[in-house]
Amino acid sequence: MPKKIVAGNWKMNNDLSQTETLLKDLKKQVIPEDVTVMIAPSFTNLFKAFESTREHPIQVIAQNMHQSQKGAFTGEVSAGMLKSVGVQTVILGHSERRAYFNETDDLLAEKINTALENNMQAIFCIGEELRDRESGDHYEVIQNQLKNGLFHVSNDSWSRIMIAYEPVWAIGTGETASPQQVQEMHHYIRETIAKQYDRNIAKNVSILYGGSVKPGNAKEIFAKKDVDGGLIGGAALNAEDFMAIINAFG
Ligand code: PEP
Repeated sequence: MPKKIVAGNWKMNNDLSQTETLLKDLKKQVIPEDVTVMIAPSFTNLFKAFESTREHPIQVIAQNMHQSQKGAFTGEVSAGMLKSVGVQTVILGHSERRAYFNETDDLLAEKINTALENNMQAIFCIGEELRDRESGDHYEVIQNQLKNGLFHVSNDSWSRIMIAYEPVWAIGTGETASPQQVQEMHHYIRETIAKQYDRNIAKNVSILYGGSVKPGNAKEIFAKKDVDGGLIGGAALNAEDFMAIINAFG
């Protein structure tokens, strides 16, 4: 069974005191037992967030990491550094990393390897641009992202991989993919994994949807058969909205 997961990607938002305030508000809430809740603060606030949630089921994860173990890579953060502050899971291949920091499928394949070598879990993000959907190429784009970034991993590694389907045209735009579009693509992703690996792996992998999920649309999206959760941007910055999205799973 895939795990039900709701992960909040805080992006480059929240300084230390805002991080503490948001965490304080979140910790007051009761998290449903069958939902794994994750938050991804900025690097500078990971340690504080980890300390603050030590006694709480919220998992603190990272938004990115470098593919090398260490070395002369000014400004970068390694898997070892993340693990040393308690982080076990990293988001890789977010469309903002792909678009603004030139992260290619080949580079992301390396990052996936580094995460796995360090016994970390990864949320691997994939998603087509508007022009791909308009030209009808969206399935091919998703297939290539999977093939080139992820399909080199061993069968055993899949227990540490989650996928986030995030159509680029729906991220931060207020425009959500329809529940039917989400279901169709999640189903396609699962079938593609089943063909490349096996049905059991495909059945067990958590496939999250991301792209303008809000309290008002979460229930309908989460109700779809192949949707195992959400990667939430803007709405994760508000404790009430984030909790409403988490509870939409209940
Ligand atoms: C995201 O950045 O992963 C995301 C889904 O953002 P938003 O929810 O704001 O569209």
